[in-house]
Amino acid sequence: MQIMATRILSSLHHVSSSASAAKRCLGLYCLWHRSISGFGASAAVDVDPSIPPVQIDHSQLLINGQFVDAASGKTFPTYDPRTGDIIANVAEGDREDVNRAVHAARKAFDEGPWPKMTAYERSRVMLRFADLLEKHNDEVAAIETWDNGKTYEQAANVEIPMVVRVFRYYAGWADKIHGLTVPGDGPHHIQTLHEPIGVAGQIVPWNFPLLIYSWKVAPALSCGNTVVLKTAEQTPLSALYVSKLFLEAGLPPGVLNIISGFGPSAGAALCSHMDVDKLAFTGSTSTGKIVLGLSAQSNLKPVTLELGGKSPFIVCKDADVDAAVETAHSAIFFNQGQCCCAGSRTFVHESIYDEFVEKAKARALKRVVGDPFKNGVEQGPQIDSVQFEKILNYIRSGVESGATLESGGQRIGSKGYYIQPTVFSNVQDNMSIAKDEIFGPVQSILKFKDLEEVIRRANATSYGLAAGVFTKNLESANTLMHALRVGTVWINCYDVLDATIPFGGYKMSGQGRVKGMHSLSSYLQVKAVVTAMKNPAWL
Ligand code: ADP
Repeated sequence: MQIMATRILSSLHHVSSSASAAKRCLGLYCLWHRSISGFGASAAVDVDPSIPPVQIDHSQLLINGQFVDAASGKTFPTYDPRTGDIIANVAEGDREDVNRAVHAARKAFDEGPWPKMTAYERSRVMLRFADLLEKHNDEVAAIETWDNGKTYEQAANVEIPMVVRVFRYYAGWADKIHGLTVPGDGPHHIQTLHEPIGVAGQIVPWNFPLLIYSWKVAPALSCGNTVVLKTAEQTPLSALYVSKLFLEAGLPPGVLNIISGFGPSAGAALCSHMDVDKLAFTGSTSTGKIVLGLSAQSNLKPVTLELGGKSPFIVCKDADVDAAVETAHSAIFFNQGQCCCAGSRTFVHESIYDEFVEKAKARALKRVVGDPFKNGVEQGPQIDSVQFEKILNYIRSGVESGATLESGGQRIGSKGYYIQPTVFSNVQDNMSIAKDEIFGPVQSILKFKDLEEVIRRANATSYGLAAGVFTKNLESANTLMHALRVGTVWINCYDVLDATIPFGGYKMSGQGRVKGMHSLSSYLQVKAVVTAMKNPAWL
């Protein structure tokens, strides 16, 4: 395997560390509310694939504190979505490697220092890691952009700082997790101990590789668990890089193990492993069902699932139309439309529908699509050819089913996976583009008459991840907030995803919560301790 010092080539237009640090903000909200005026039309993609943005240090598996080849010796390529070219060949973990990683995590939990360390020491390791990550912000962001296609500005100014914040947030929790004393009915002293579960198996997707890594790894480690994490096969690089920083921060060997590999082999082996005590998964609803089934067929390990969505974005008649257009645009097009909580059904009141559609179309036509490493680019390529084809098929189906194509609809260029920002109006609830999770830059705008109708239609889906509401009317906001069957409601904003806020789905969008204090309970078990007392008078 190729091991080289990581460096960023100076030819890139990187935001300098100090400048970007000053500009960084902790919510996607802030990014979206920067001025976006002055961008030109997205006519062509000007990719410069001749620039390799960073050199890759780590392409092996991380097991027991060592970077190692897969037991089989096999590797698989990870690709640059800008061009479809190979970035690196990465060790392909499989059942045998999952066994080795789980064994290391088991030992680190049962015998090793991690759960036995004081909570304060655990928090200090996590804080040191956060400091190191902050120091290496720009090269980590470059790896994320190269492997995923998201814009460098988004990765460097928003996502990596959010990852740092998540680790600091959960580091702060480590020494604040404690049990209760409980009043009983008899002569007993009763207390609860909140203990780590053991070895956590975690599976992450490709759309926010490091952000979702942080949502999983940070609470697990804070509570004293050990971890085996499988990255998505499309984006294996950033987790390997930052986990090396974790070792530098003093994380003992075996506490965090990283397996690159494919879902049906390495992922399934992790889910069905008898020595894994808990699973946390983020991905599609169909794979979530498989994960839950594998747990049931093995050792009934508890499972947290964060799955798909088809989130409504409701614009009421009294909304500030310009603000609603801009936020609805961001809600669907952010991250190339590759968000589980994308606002993918834009419901607009009939009284402002035509104005909204015109403005949404104009905004989409102004969206800058291009090489994600270039300053000012708002949208990079889709992740891979599979997603790219799937999205174009949905666009075709929208046209065939009678929706009005207002803008976009085509690929851009002949290389890489770029798609024009696409807007459909006159979308009906029964069309595939209104029902299925497209996971791409496709906005569907639907018309509604009154609140009762839009509540019924917004809830008429098996998903329930998130919703957006735009209104100046308190009564409408309160009604919608209660009536929508979703895990998050954003009112006059969207995608505010601070570390402190619980996130997760109703219905088939998942079970359990990530982020915030609510995530901690899924990495702890509660032990009741009942002690008989001879002298109940002191109770
Ligand atoms: P997508 O279709 O968008 O790639 P998936 O839900 O299939 O989403 O993938 C999310 C994560 O789940 C990835 O890390 C992938 O490797 C993993 N995965 C896919 N299939 C399985 C499976 N059968 N068992 C366990 N993990 C899987």
